[in-house]
Amino acid sequence: MDHFLKQCEAAIGEENVLTQVQDQAPFLQDRRGRSQGSALAVLRPHCTEQVAQLVRLCLQYRVAITPQGGNTGLVLGSIPNCEKNVGSADSAVPAVVTSHAVILSLKRLNQIRAIDVHNHSITVEAGCLLQQVQQAALEADTFFPLSLASEGSCTLGGNLSTNAGGTAVLRYGNARELCLGLEVVTPQGDIWNGLRGLRKDNTGYDLKNLMIGAEGTLGIITAAVLKLFPKVHSQACAWVVLDDVASALQLFSLARENYFSSLSAFEIMNALSVDLVHRHFPQYQRVFKEGAPYFALLEFSSHEAASQAQLQCDKLIHSAYELGIIRDAVIASSNGQAQQFWAIREAISEAQAKAGGNIKHDIGLPISQIPDFVACAEKALALEFPNCRLVNFGHMGDGNLHFNVSAPLGQDATAFFLHQSRINQIVHDITHSYGGTFSAEHGIGCLKKEELRRYKSATEIQMMRSIKRALDPHNMMNPGKIFTED
Ligand SMILES: Cc1cc2nc3c(=O)[nH]c(=O)nc-3n(C[C@H](O)[C@H](O)[C@H](O)COP(=O)(O)OP(=O)(O)OC[C@H]3O[C@@H](n4cnc5c(N)ncnc54)[C@H](O)[C@@H]3O)c2cc1C
Repeated sequence: MDHFLKQCEAAIGEENVLTQVQDQAPFLQDRRGRSQGSALAVLRPHCTEQVAQLVRLCLQYRVAITPQGGNTGLVLGSIPNCEKNVGSADSAVPAVVTSHAVILSLKRLNQIRAIDVHNHSITVEAGCLLQQVQQAALEADTFFPLSLASEGSCTLGGNLSTNAGGTAVLRYGNARELCLGLEVVTPQGDIWNGLRGLRKDNTGYDLKNLMIGAEGTLGIITAAVLKLFPKVHSQACAWVVLDDVASALQLFSLARENYFSSLSAFEIMNALSVDLVHRHFPQYQRVFKEGAPYFALLEFSSHEAASQAQLQCDKLIHSAYELGIIRDAVIASSNGQAQQFWAIREAISEAQAKAGGNIKHDIGLPISQIPDFVACAEKALALEFPNCRLVNFGHMGDGNLHFNVSAPLGQDATAFFLHQSRINQIVHDITHSYGGTFSAEHGIGCLKKEELRRYKSATEIQMMRSIKRALDPHNMMNPGKIFTED
């Protein structure tokens, strides 16, 4: 492999081929500390041509490639050799020797290439941080709506490769809906320039949408054309107290029926989610002193008159109260207070981590089924794991819940974790029976491969494998991710 590494150094400079353990460490460490991978080298190209050159070298030497952006993914997708089970996506395809894997970091491809104000689009390189793209849009007096708690460290290439969701999906859609065109380096090392800024283009198979959400298994995204929107002129936020999930569904329907064009987020949180935040982040003040089974966080935003969003938020809360759907509510009186509401919502994941970890889920359901699902899953879990605690929160308006399960109070979390696969199965089986999915946002990576096999039909998996084989016959691109080995 020395010869391979020397050629990589010649292509991108010695300083951009990291082979020392200490230099590689941050690239090989899983965000949640669950696993660590290994790689021959971390390669840091700075332009699309260099990416293509490196891919051709990897193909020549049969070195597997794991593309990496900000390494904020939550399913061990961006790290090679992070589990024993790495190998061929298909038994008919010879496996790349997986210890011969490199991380191809896209972070130096970080230029905003162009903004076309009248086409309402921006062309960015894959390694741009999401926050950098949001900022570039604002500076051009426009708005890029994708927003995640990891936006200061995740990249656009990663967002597209995982089809990221976040807090603005209800209004603007997820990463897929925000993308007009892509530039991709194929597993053969060719450059596909699909950087078209078109809203309509019916010219054969939709390769762009095949690459989005492919988790680096079909090629390397090097740049993208993204949609821009008018800047929001008014925003309003409400923190609502609810009796249960059924009331949340009623409130969501009322808001959608009456204020569809301005409702931009609808999040729910159960009592324990919020309690954990206040226990571990005492700097956040409670919105209500008294507890309640559920809370919702609603956001309205309007491109129209400055007071429009506030007006609609007020009206909704008033009628929901009159109809007996909600117990109480606070409408944020300032941007600062709205930010505090969001800070509580966004601190839930970290608060859970501080509380000793729990068994996480990222499920998607038809919105209408959420109350029945929650009731059914709570009952099933209580039956087998009495006193286990649910940290149920998420993007209810998108049908996406983080239905997480914590150990009973006083029980050792490590012992509880031994039941992880059974708990996953209970939650995912019930999700499936309600027409849902086990992964609404985070993807498959290494962690959800068994679920993919369990819940997708054989026909669907076969079609996916055929695409993988056709585009990447040597299984060079991120082997060991998405597919199980059989
Ligand atoms: C605090 C926190 C909050 C989060 N909130 C959300 C949320 O609300 N919604 C959500 O959807 N996710 C969320 N995530 C998950 C994560 O941030 C997203 O999945 C994000 O889109 C990953 O971007 P990244 O640049 O870090 O990608 P990475 O983690 O580096 O990679 C993710 C996957 O994409 C592939 N990949 C990366 N770049 C490329 C490329 N250029 N070409 C081809 N493949 C590539 C990798 O191989 C890997 O399979 C959150 C994570 C954290 C830590």
